[in-house]
Amino acid sequence: MSEHLMNTYARLPVSFKKGDGAILQDADGNRYIDAISGIAVCSLGHAHPTISEAICKQSQKLLHTSNLYEIKKQKKLADELIQLSGMDRVFFCNSGAEANETAIKIARKYANQKQIEKPQIIVMENSFHGRTMATLSATGNDKVHEGFAPLVQGFLRVPFDNIEAIEAHSSNRDVVAVLVEPVQGEGGVHVPQNGYMKTIRELCDRNDWLMMVDEIQTGIGRTGKWFAHQHEGITPDVMSLAKALGNGVPIGACVTGKKASNILVPGNHGTTFGGNPLACAAGLAVIKTMKANNWVDFIAKKGDQLLNSFKDELSNTKGIVDIRGKGYMIGIQLDRPCGELVAKALDKGLLINVTRGDTVRLLPTFVMSSEQTETLVNELTGLIKEFLED
Ligand SMILES: *Cc1c(COP(=O)(O)O)cnc(C)c1O
Repeated sequence: MSEHLMNTYARLPVSFKKGDGAILQDADGNRYIDAISGIAVCSLGHAHPTISEAICKQSQKLLHTSNLYEIKKQKKLADELIQLSGMDRVFFCNSGAEANETAIKIARKYANQKQIEKPQIIVMENSFHGRTMATLSATGNDKVHEGFAPLVQGFLRVPFDNIEAIEAHSSNRDVVAVLVEPVQGEGGVHVPQNGYMKTIRELCDRNDWLMMVDEIQTGIGRTGKWFAHQHEGITPDVMSLAKALGNGVPIGACVTGKKASNILVPGNHGTTFGGNPLACAAGLAVIKTMKANNWVDFIAKKGDQLLNSFKDELSNTKGIVDIRGKGYMIGIQLDRPCGELVAKALDKGLLINVTRGDTVRLLPTFVMSSEQTETLVNELTGLIKEFLED
């Protein structure tokens, strides 16, 4: 709309004035059920009282001091993340891409310690890891690469959900790490077969590789566990987080297990804003609220129900290829491009997303009421059926 904004987004012609729980309101007072949560960010809904209060209070005391000094809330938030993940240490940053950059730098430094000169990180086809040069190079999507050559070197691409393809690199001495999403989000909500993450863990152990898990979209309860890799009872060596960690306040984190905790040392890495008091106050309020209301177990249960509701309504509809997901991360794949569904849904008061051209993606807020859930299912399945009949 503005000639002074860089032309990087294809935006929808709507702007929101305020939010309340699962609802967003535009300037004309129209209400929308938010089934995308600002791309898996506002999981606890909009204007959550506990989180708003924590941000407000913190802003009246202190916003930023820089990492030249100790930051109490940063330590506290790290303690929480370590308790929840069973890992060891945390580096705080401001976004998902930065969390993955940290992971990639850890892998490079790990290679350096092992005197591997041209290290390779195994990454997946159809993956998404961010838009900085290293993270776009790790991303498995030609559209993301296009026009940005030369890419950052050192990524070996294999098909997702294919253990043999990873195993085939076991004798490759340049490999130092595997970077994988437990459920591919931007790639179209692809849930790998049971045991995939567990087998990657075993391969990493056997080959002395770092297992690096991108939980930026799947983390903080989204799939019905605090972190999606916990569905398989494993612990990675490196985990990246961002999106829902601040419920809308920008914050990212790279979490390490013992094997990866002491690879970066003073002077190797840093950020001005990362883990500032405001962002950490938001993160602490998110975790406190998630725990207090047991949102993780709730989403495990509600996610199954929501997925089944869509299956009940759509499974027998001609043109539906697949309905899949985990927790509140759901993909409905059609047999044709369906980008226009986004605008149709908007007209009906539903905020949804389409990835990979043919997959409706839902990332609802956890706080959506039963009534709102029913409306979402009824309206959206109606729209999809109508669309497929045309
Ligand atoms: C969103 C996302 C990123 C990038 O996060 P930004 O905060 O946009 O940099 C990386 N990986 C995954 C899996 C994501 O969903």
